[in-house]
Amino acid sequence: MTSKTSIDFNNTTIAFASKSTTQLKKAYLIFSMMNYPQIVNIGSKLINLSLKWHLPIEWIIKRTLFEQFCGGETIEACQYTIKQLMQANINTILNYAVESKQTEVDFDTACKEIEKTIISASRRTNETPFAVLKISSIGSLYLLEKFQHSPNSLNAEELSRFENIKKRVLHLCQQGYTNGVKILFDAEESWIQNVIDTIGLEMMKKYNTMNQTWIYITYQMYRKNSLAYIYNHHQLAKNQHFRIGAKLVRGAYLEQEHIYAQQKGCSNPIFNNKIETDHAFNEAIQYLLAHLDCFSVCIATHNEESCRLSIEIMQKLNINPQDTRVLFAQLLGMSNQLSYNLAQAGYHVAKYVPYGPIRNAIPYLLRRAQENKSIQGQSSREYLLLKKELERRKRTQN
Ligand SMILES: Cc1cc2nc3c(=O)[nH]c(=O)nc-3n(C[C@H](O)[C@H](O)[C@H](O)COP(=O)(O)OP(=O)(O)OC[C@H]3O[C@@H](n4cnc5c(N)ncnc54)[C@H](O)[C@@H]3O)c2cc1C
Repeated sequence: MTSKTSIDFNNTTIAFASKSTTQLKKAYLIFSMMNYPQIVNIGSKLINLSLKWHLPIEWIIKRTLFEQFCGGETIEACQYTIKQLMQANINTILNYAVESKQTEVDFDTACKEIEKTIISASRRTNETPFAVLKISSIGSLYLLEKFQHSPNSLNAEELSRFENIKKRVLHLCQQGYTNGVKILFDAEESWIQNVIDTIGLEMMKKYNTMNQTWIYITYQMYRKNSLAYIYNHHQLAKNQHFRIGAKLVRGAYLEQEHIYAQQKGCSNPIFNNKIETDHAFNEAIQYLLAHLDCFSVCIATHNEESCRLSIEIMQKLNINPQDTRVLFAQLLGMSNQLSYNLAQAGYHVAKYVPYGPIRNAIPYLLRRAQENKSIQGQSSREYLLLKKELERRKRTQN
């Protein structure tokens, strides 16, 4: 258990203990390239073009972005990563990273694959207590958007396809509940998010009790209305006697939201600057940790200050690091300095481990590359930490 002293997130010996020097050198090369936004932008365009022209680009993606950010192409291929993480007391959250599919057959296939992640997770819930549900992987984006905009405008065929989405969600939540695996609903673009929240809330009411949280929804704190949503859901949970599973993120669709608002001529639901997003994120951490009687919280961030603040609040409120109502989460391939140092200090930590066929995981990988491209941002932080660890190993011949 941790003392009242804060955790040293610069401890690269702990952060990279599971990585060989060769692996670190490769990661260093990848993050150093992502420090150049032009390379990321041009690379993303080239990858998209290659996909359109059916060029065989899998091999290069596999050896670079895929190896850095994904666990493998199948659940079986992720077993090595799961074991490695568990050795550092870090749980795995398997995430079938297939996106942008269109047909009912694709959605049924994705639903079966997510079911497999639930069954696989249920075999070792001490290592893999969660599974992820991204609704746009089991239903049409177009349909979700149309329903959110105007539910009455769906024709009979569309209504039946919309019902299929709800059936798939219900089936997966029931599988999670029956098999003792918690389900995290991912948050997506604002023009489909109200539908996702409504379905997620229905599932929380159905499966969560005052003692058990089986379903979590995601609050994107870059949205101006998220804090109000949290307060609102809190009241609802109190009145109707169920716990809210709250995964907190800042939000991953910043550029898409700007473009959408511009194209549609509607107001942008996202804060105008990062300071406001950070403020909302901090407020949410404060609020949720102060109300663990009603909330189970997953703090999903790569931001050190947010992790530091969470720990300070937990210490102030005498919340034990081992309290199962609080979980920290990061994505595979990023922010090991947070995951490994938090776990070492006794906090509950999990990594999202995306997997899937390489070609299908490309949208996910491109989002990671875009997120990491800023000179001021995450990439340079990763880059500096990798550099520090490589220099330390060279100095100590370790
Ligand atoms: C385990 C895990 C699960 C995740 N699941 C989801 C999910 O379900 N849905 C989802 O959308 N995202 C998800 N994300 C991604 C997340 O939303 C962020 O994009 C990412 O984590 C970066 O934010 P940060 O808190 O780590 O750090 P930071 O680097 O401190 O924050 C970057 C974020 O700040 C916000 N921001 C940046 N500039 C501005 C600006 N000008 N105005 C307003 N806001 C700004 C954006 O949200 C940006 O992503 C997940 C992340 C993790 C670690």
